[in-house]
Amino acid sequence: MASVSGAAPGAPGADWGQGCGANCFTLDEDGFTCSRVLDAPEVWRVDLLMHDTFLPSVNAFVVMDGGETLVVDAGTPDPMNDTRLMRALLGLGVDPEAATLFCTHAHIDHTGLARELSEAGARVVIPEGVLGDMRRFAVPAWRDQMVERMRAEGASEEESVELADVIWDHVVNFETEKIAFSTVRPGDELRCGRWRFEVVSAPGHTTGQCVLWEPETRTAFLGDAVLFLCSTCIGFWGEGEDPIGEQLGTLRALAERGIEHAFMGHGLQEGDVSERCLANVGHHERRSARAMASIAERPGQTGFELVPAMGWRAPFDRWAETPAMTRWFLVSESIAHLDHLVAAGAVRRERGEDGVSRYWPAGA
Ligand SMILES: [Zn+2]
Ligand SMILES: [Zn+2]
Repeated sequence: MASVSGAAPGAPGADWGQGCGANCFTLDEDGFTCSRVLDAPEVWRVDLLMHDTFLPSVNAFVVMDGGETLVVDAGTPDPMNDTRLMRALLGLGVDPEAATLFCTHAHIDHTGLARELSEAGARVVIPEGVLGDMRRFAVPAWRDQMVERMRAEGASEEESVELADVIWDHVVNFETEKIAFSTVRPGDELRCGRWRFEVVSAPGHTTGQCVLWEPETRTAFLGDAVLFLCSTCIGFWGEGEDPIGEQLGTLRALAERGIEHAFMGHGLQEGDVSERCLANVGHHERRSARAMASIAERPGQTGFELVPAMGWRAPFDRWAETPAMTRWFLVSESIAHLDHLVAAGAVRRERGEDGVSRYWPAGA
């Protein structure tokens, strides 16, 4: 941070508020910026630091119209991000007390600064399904269920515990954190000045994720429903649930919607949204097909034995040295594909006397 100058605290100075091209100003000296990404509706992208994953940054968006402000998603919690987001609002002349924060889903990189915005006077709104995710996934019981599930998929006791511990608390629970909020449902509208944003259900990445859709300008705030940077992560939920199937439905529905301007949790729109969604459908279908082929070729493998068969670009020869977070992404999405094949009736899962499930082609 720059040393204290004579300027009022928070006022633009050498360390922030510098121009960085048209409709752009800096948020610090580290290259994080706030920039206008659409004129109608007026949308600003606030670039915030992302922790713990390979993604370079996370976006919060600020929509402004007629003196009203809608903030979509709230970034990863950390004092620097807090400062960056508040500087963005200050730089845009936004009064937090006249702002509404909408969180697309419960992940910490989208809800992390909700407390700061709430304490600054903003109204916090989440979809009912996101509240459901907070209650289900941001509790220690979910950590224990993850351990049990990975053990049942053939992971060692030690690795099951390690992987569950690295990820389970990456959801913020507004109730236990005592952050005031209200809920909306799919079909409800959020208004910002003359614009009306429809809440649209988009399960897959999480069960309760919702996106915002403005039909007049065909603008959508998509959270992590689809990204251009990479395929969005799909982890397992419970046995009998099918997050990959849900995600395929979401991607197909988004492809149909005719989105022109897409604002995502990470990175920016790079080309046609519909094409991107359908390409991502193909990506998941190919991975499921690889899992199916391996099960047909060698029936009776465990979930853990099947992970390397699914075509990940991953260092399976150096598994033990691979960071736990990376291993968790690989394992959880692989299990989600097995859940998908079971749900589709293509594969049979059988729990052995050792408590470990093995996979067989249906009918075999
Ligand atoms: Zn997410
Ligand atoms: Zn995210």
